Amino acid sequence: MYDIDNVRKDFPILTREVYGKPLVYLDNGATTQKPLCVLDAMRDEYLNVNANVHRGVHYLSQQATDLHEASRETVRKFINAPKVEEIIFTRGTTESLNLVASSFCDRFMKEGDEVIVSVMEHHSNIVPWQLQAAKKGIALRVIPMTDEGDLIVDEFEKLINDRTRIVSVTQVSNVLGTVNPVKEIIRIAHEHNVPVMVDGAQSTPHMKVDVQELDCDFFAFSGHKVYGPTGVGVLYGKEKWLDMMPPYQGGGEMIESVSFEKTVFEKLPFKFEAGTPDYVATHGLAKALDYVSALGLDNIAAHEQYLTRYAMEQLQTIPGMRIFGTSSHKDAVVSFLVGDIHHLDMGTLLDRLGIAVRTGHHCAEPLMTRLGIAGTVRASFALYNTVEEVDSLVAGVRRVSRMF
Ligand code: PMP
Repeated sequence: MYDIDNVRKDFPILTREVYGKPLVYLDNGATTQKPLCVLDAMRDEYLNVNANVHRGVHYLSQQATDLHEASRETVRKFINAPKVEEIIFTRGTTESLNLVASSFCDRFMKEGDEVIVSVMEHHSNIVPWQLQAAKKGIALRVIPMTDEGDLIVDEFEKLINDRTRIVSVTQVSNVLGTVNPVKEIIRIAHEHNVPVMVDGAQSTPHMKVDVQELDCDFFAFSGHKVYGPTGVGVLYGKEKWLDMMPPYQGGGEMIESVSFEKTVFEKLPFKFEAGTPDYVATHGLAKALDYVSALGLDNIAAHEQYLTRYAMEQLQTIPGMRIFGTSSHKDAVVSFLVGDIHHLDMGTLLDRLGIAVRTGHHCAEPLMTRLGIAGTVRASFALYNTVEEVDSLVAGVRRVSRMF
């Protein structure tokens, strides 16, 4: 394990007070705080290196390019992708999902074809497919779940048919915390020669991801949820698919040559990276991944699992407590409601006690419909959260509950 007091020193924001109370930051599913090493690296790059990447022959440009391309290699290693060309920098999970939905559908889908998603997807893994559905006349099929929040794999098998072109599922639910059996889903889909896209926004910060072991065809995650900067994310795709897919956007960086008659696209990964990349953010992301790797994802997972179990146990002692997502495969997220207290009231009053949680539908409205509720209060844990912070949450929820 790691020394939590030392780790917290790497995140100065955690010593802040809000409304005169020590900040208890439990909104890590939305975004995580950044360690000093990430901030220092980015500041240093702007101070000492800054120049546009790839196009310059001059010293600074080459140095910035080296940092940017070294970051791509760090990402490759982090998710154990076979080739660095398979790592595409995007603005985040949402853009990665839109890229695949758009380019994959362009190349491989026609009217009547089907995409399978699950009932617990974030809107980012629903709407991009719906945009394509509206354009091309393709249909979405939805994997259902049990009341505990486990996907029903038998039902998934029944949904696959000869019109299924791709499956796109989240590895971890941002509302329920369920860790989905994506490896099994991928195995089954591959038996039918159907590729699988995995939304790793909520898994990458909490568990070791190995895209070769999963054998997924595409994998997306966001830098800001894994202690890196905002505005940068990753799409991993198997070369065989990416090679066949058309570019998502056009512009500089993604071309080999341009004339008014004919444009030749760059090779991977640049074919999918139009325009100046956020090369300072990619550097920051690499530092964040190094930070996480140095602590050890197994250690982080063990710590967060402990906090999650402890929070579930303690919250359940509060009268009227309803926890959503009680799968035995569950990650660092606890969603709940107490009696008929509105989630917004609970969140607002917790905030006054210094406790930052998220409230609402969490960009998963179809899941809310499945659960028959409008929203939840969600506490989500990170590597720097403590047992004392869980105690503050539980005391805060108890206090607010008594007020109603
Ligand atoms: N998928 C899941 C499961 C998420 O939790 C989120 C962020 N809440 C996203 C996708 C979208 O991530 P981003 O906003 O960083 O693109």
